[in-house]
Amino acid sequence: MRVDVDMDRCIGSGMCTTLAPELFELDDDGVLRVKAHVVPPGSEEGAEEAVACCPAEAIALEDV
Ligand code: SF4
Repeated sequence: MRVDVDMDRCIGSGMCTTLAPELFELDDDGVLRVKAHVVPPGSEEGAEEAVACCPAEAIALEDV
């Protein structure tokens, strides 16, 4: 599973960093960074929750 964020849509709400901190973080300027584009085993549920809760619908998951 692979995760990506459309940075043109992201509003920096931080929801994803709360739900899946192993995948996402906000930098010092509040800009989102994807820490792991390839979702590690055990993080699939957090990734799916982040997709569902992102207020900007900016996160995409892809089965690879
Ligand atoms: S939840 Fe969505 S809008 Fe908020 S920081 Fe993450 S990707 Fe950006």
